[in-house]
Amino acid sequence: MEKRNVIIIGSGPAGLTAAIYTARANLKPLVFEGYQPGGQLMITTEVENFPGFKEGIMGPELMDILHEQAERFGAEFISSEVTRVELSEDKKIVWDEDDAYEAETVIISTGATANLLGLESEKRLMGRGVSACATCDGFFFKDKEICVIGGGDSAMEEANYLTRFASKVYLIHRRDQFRASKIMIKKAEENPKIQFVLNSGIEEILGNEKVTGIKLRNTKTGEIFDLKLDGVFVAIGHTPNTSIFKEQLEIDPKGYIITGRERSKQTATNIGGVFACGDVQDPYYRQAISAAGSGCAAALDAERYIEAKG
Ligand code: NAP
Repeated sequence: MEKRNVIIIGSGPAGLTAAIYTARANLKPLVFEGYQPGGQLMITTEVENFPGFKEGIMGPELMDILHEQAERFGAEFISSEVTRVELSEDKKIVWDEDDAYEAETVIISTGATANLLGLESEKRLMGRGVSACATCDGFFFKDKEICVIGGGDSAMEEANYLTRFASKVYLIHRRDQFRASKIMIKKAEENPKIQFVLNSGIEEILGNEKVTGIKLRNTKTGEIFDLKLDGVFVAIGHTPNTSIFKEQLEIDPKGYIITGRERSKQTATNIGGVFACGDVQDPYYRQAISAAGSGCAAALDAERYIEAKG
């Protein structure tokens, strides 16, 4: 088995930035792109806050640019998912479905996956009016009435985006306080097609073959009421993709890999030579640019680890 200097698991902004830096350091990184190459930005619309793009840029276009930039410096990509790892100070092996690969250092940038409500009706009607991806499915709701569930930036962003297609978008949130930033809330409030439905929890998604409405419960009064609509977009946060690392790395109660024990090695995990960056270790910022920044840090940490080992 050929031993690589650096294996990067995941190809969102964190993984690709780590790839650019380690490739420029001549470490010839091998990047496993994972089940969603490009990460969550591939299912995002316009990114307005990534420095350097003053007019904004579409998420998939930004990821294409980062991918090409990493390739230009010699990063190698494998379009498969890592299914198993063996991580210790002395030996680091990762497996995809077909092969095993050994590395001196491993950078984990597997990101996070969209959460779902967990309702039976949500599962049954997924793809039949229920979606967790506005960019993928918004187009199918031209002139329809739909809703977005959630009170964070994702919900605001998706609601605004979906007004390009839908005639009306209900923004449904279980509280009357938002996690979203003020600017995103203001944009949604000022959009005449968006109607806020607050203090409302979703009891059930209605419909047999396709979505016909939702059943809501007012979280303050307990009142149950229905809304007729054709589509339900779930935007209620994310869970870090750490299941294959659980037995080997220190993970916090919410599933994030624990990093940052040492000021001079902020992406180091509990195992020497294994680093983590991006949303998989960040419950606080979770921005494309903060993920990219931590990808840079992971690359520098890996480079220094290899140098120190001689
Ligand atoms: P989030 O900030 O964690 O918000 C999730 C929202 O979903 C919360 O309002 C939460 O309600 C609600 N929720 C969670 N579980 C629920 C359930 N079972 N039923 C109903 N509602 C539920 O997640 P996010 O909006 O995906 O944002 C994640 C991160 O990405 C944030 O840091 C955000 O700033 C960033 N982001 C940034 C941009 C941008 O800057 N353009 C765009 C998208 C995302 P409670 O508030 O009641 O808990």
